[in-house]
Amino acid sequence: MLIDAHNHLQDSRFGEDLPTIIDSLAQHQIEHCIVNGTCEDDWQRVIDLHHQHPMLLSPACGLHPWKTATRSTRWLEKLTDLLERNPHVSIGECGLDGWIRDADLQDQCDVLVSHFALSRNYDRPLTIHCLKAWPQLLEMLRGTPPLPPFLLHSFGGPAQMIPELCRLGAHFSFSGYFLHPRKHQALQNFRLIPHDRLHLETDAPDMAPPLSYQGILVHHAYNHPVILARLVDELAALRNINRDECAALTSNNSRRLFRLSPLR
Ligand SMILES: [Zn+2]
Repeated sequence: MLIDAHNHLQDSRFGEDLPTIIDSLAQHQIEHCIVNGTCEDDWQRVIDLHHQHPMLLSPACGLHPWKTATRSTRWLEKLTDLLERNPHVSIGECGLDGWIRDADLQDQCDVLVSHFALSRNYDRPLTIHCLKAWPQLLEMLRGTPPLPPFLLHSFGGPAQMIPELCRLGAHFSFSGYFLHPRKHQALQNFRLIPHDRLHLETDAPDMAPPLSYQGILVHHAYNHPVILARLVDELAALRNINRDECAALTSNNSRRLFRLSPLR
C-alpha cells in the first residue's frame, strides 16, 4: 500500500471529479494522503475532507509562500486556534519561494519562523516548500532551536546539503515532476536520500510528470492523485529496489513522520 505524503485534494481544480477521485484511491493501492491547506481560505475545507474520510485523509494547514502576501492580520491567531482545536492537524504547506515574481523573501522568512514556533509548541510535523531559496532555508534551520521531524516536499535542493538537512531533522519526498528530462539532476539526488527519510508524493493537482507517464490520465486538466502508483515504480528503479520494498519503505516512513496509526 502507498501513502501520498503531500497533495492538495481541497483544490477547486478537482471540481465535481473529487468524489470519484477519492473512491479510486484504494483501487490504486493508495491507503492514505496528507492533504495540505495553503491559505486561510482553504484550511476549513481540508479539515472537512478529513472528517468525511478520517481513515484516508490527514489534514495539514499552513500558509504557502505564494499566499503570504495576501494573508490577513489574524492569520497566525487563526492557525494557532485551529491547531489547538484539532490535535490531528500537522503544519504545512509553508516555506520559501524565490522563484515567484516579486518574491519578498524577508516577509516569507518571518512567516516561516512562525510556522517553526507552532511546530515546536504543538509538537506537530511540518511540511516545507522551497524553491530557489535553499541557502536562506538552511540558514533558518541552523538558527532555530530543534524542530520535530519535517518534510521537504518535492525536494529539489542541492545534493551537498542533504547530510546537514538530515541532521536537522529533514525528510524528503519524491514527486513526478522530477521525471521531466530537465530535472535529471534533482532526480539523481533521490539516490542519496537515506532510506529512512524517503517519501512519495503527487502534489496533485500540481507537479504532473511528463505526459508519457500519465497513460489513461492524460485527458485530465490536473495531475491525478492515482499517478502515485506509477511514481513508486520510478523511485524503486532509481533506488535499485523492488516495487513492494519501495512501497513499504515510503509508507512506513510517512506513517512514522505523520504519526499515523500503524495499520489502517
Ligand atoms: Zn504542495
